[in-house]
Amino acid sequence: MEKVYVFGHRKPDTDSVCSAISLAYLKKQLGVNAEPRILGSVNKETKYALDYFKVKEPAYLNDVKLQLRDIDYHRHYFLSGDRSIYDSYLYMLNQGLTGVPIVGDKDKFIGIVTIKDLAHHFINGNADHLKTSYDNLLTVIKGEEITRFNDEIDGTVLAASYRSTTFINNVKLTKDNILIVGDRHSVIEYAINSKVQMIIVSGNGVVKEEHIELAKKNKVNIIRSKYDTYHISRLVSLANYIKTMTRTTKDAVCFDDIAYVDDILDINRKLRHTNYPVVRSKDNKCLGLLRITDLESKNPKQVILVDHNEMKQSAEGLAEASILEIFDHHNLGSITTSTPINFRNMAVGSTCTIVYTLYKEKNIEIPKNMAGMMLSGILSDTLVLKSPTATSLDVVAVHELASIAGVNYQEYGLNLLKAGTSLDGMSPEDVLYNDFKLYTVQDKTLAIGQFFTTNFDEIKEKLEDYLTTLDEVAEANQYSVVALYVTDIIQNGSYVLFNRKAIDLFKLAYNDDDLEEGFYLQDCVSRKKHVVPVLMDVLEK
Ligand code: MN
Repeated sequence: MEKVYVFGHRKPDTDSVCSAISLAYLKKQLGVNAEPRILGSVNKETKYALDYFKVKEPAYLNDVKLQLRDIDYHRHYFLSGDRSIYDSYLYMLNQGLTGVPIVGDKDKFIGIVTIKDLAHHFINGNADHLKTSYDNLLTVIKGEEITRFNDEIDGTVLAASYRSTTFINNVKLTKDNILIVGDRHSVIEYAINSKVQMIIVSGNGVVKEEHIELAKKNKVNIIRSKYDTYHISRLVSLANYIKTMTRTTKDAVCFDDIAYVDDILDINRKLRHTNYPVVRSKDNKCLGLLRITDLESKNPKQVILVDHNEMKQSAEGLAEASILEIFDHHNLGSITTSTPINFRNMAVGSTCTIVYTLYKEKNIEIPKNMAGMMLSGILSDTLVLKSPTATSLDVVAVHELASIAGVNYQEYGLNLLKAGTSLDGMSPEDVLYNDFKLYTVQDKTLAIGQFFTTNFDEIKEKLEDYLTTLDEVAEANQYSVVALYVTDIIQNGSYVLFNRKAIDLFKLAYNDDDLEEGFYLQDCVSRKKHVVPVLMDVLEK
């Protein structure tokens, strides 16, 4: 069954990852071969949710562009280099194709042969050399085995047409020769005595018993064919191994099956070949043949979008994919489709809430880990139901999902958000410069960093380090004020740190003679609205 990719937006957040996972699970229960994917690495918060509920992180999806593997090219269409030229021609003829990739051991690609190559070969080629198997020769000239000593035949072909005395006196035969001759016993005897490699007797001619005995002694191969000498001469060159005339790999233009159709079309615009071998680059294994007209029958990747409906937020190549459905809770974006699709947009707090309602509608039981996923998505997007975007439907979903998942949603939600804003591995400079802006008032410069976290405690523990950093940054750059606002979105307020020399300014600004480093400001969350005007005002005075 064809795979359906389910994915959220780029720079994935918890809602987009968790809704993709829980929707893919639901679709699977409904008989769809759905697979969740992510368009970027998961953040710390999402990782916490996945680890907590022991859910595997979805695989990364680079793009949904059309690849050669999405095309009905001629899969498994190739021939072993040990087949005869004649066989290869028949194979192409039967398949209605004008070229065939040639392979060696384990289907390793050797090269390609086209009908055009065959024509060149027979018009320009050296036709008197034969290199093939005994069996190929037997098949092509419809021969009958009289004696056989070699499975591989490799030599120069000649036909006896002089009178026998002229032939015997003037033509020197060696082990290298393959002689075509009729029922001319003296010539046959001369050839056997010269120990030629092979004698092909034409016109179903009789070979004397004594000559067969002599051939066995001298190890001379004999084949008899019903065709006449002229006919056999023509067929013999067709018995050659196809690999003896194959253009080698360095000349052939091949494509891997993961190549993008777009790129193939670009290359074809210049080359205009009809046939391209399909060869896997990693092991040089031949997979088949792309006839350029095969590109007309394509199977675009099937996708379901969650938590976004904007082209530029989605996977690269979305225009080449087939969008089956969209589930989202954002404003309507830019995506257009050529066929009608299911588009479910609800003004709720998270996409996971929509997925939750789908489980209800389809009457599919929600397993514990999927309840955990959906719960995480809702709690993340609604800041544990505190955001004004949270609706009564989100509240209902959270309560039921928390009970299936077996967690206290407030406690779990807080830990989830904390994990997302963890300061793990960040230095005071990292925190300060994460989002850092400069403002100038007359000749003074004001520098304000803002950092969102629910973990102010982690900063408080290293207060001395932070203050030293702020002092140093102020000193080195001649800033009058260097402040760090640590904003806690759950409490809806900010903790304030500043370079120690600026203490009087802060006392003045916030009208508090007792304020200390790390003081807390309720409802102060926007640097633009709540911070800059207050500080500027004092500096101006
Ligand atoms: Mn969302």
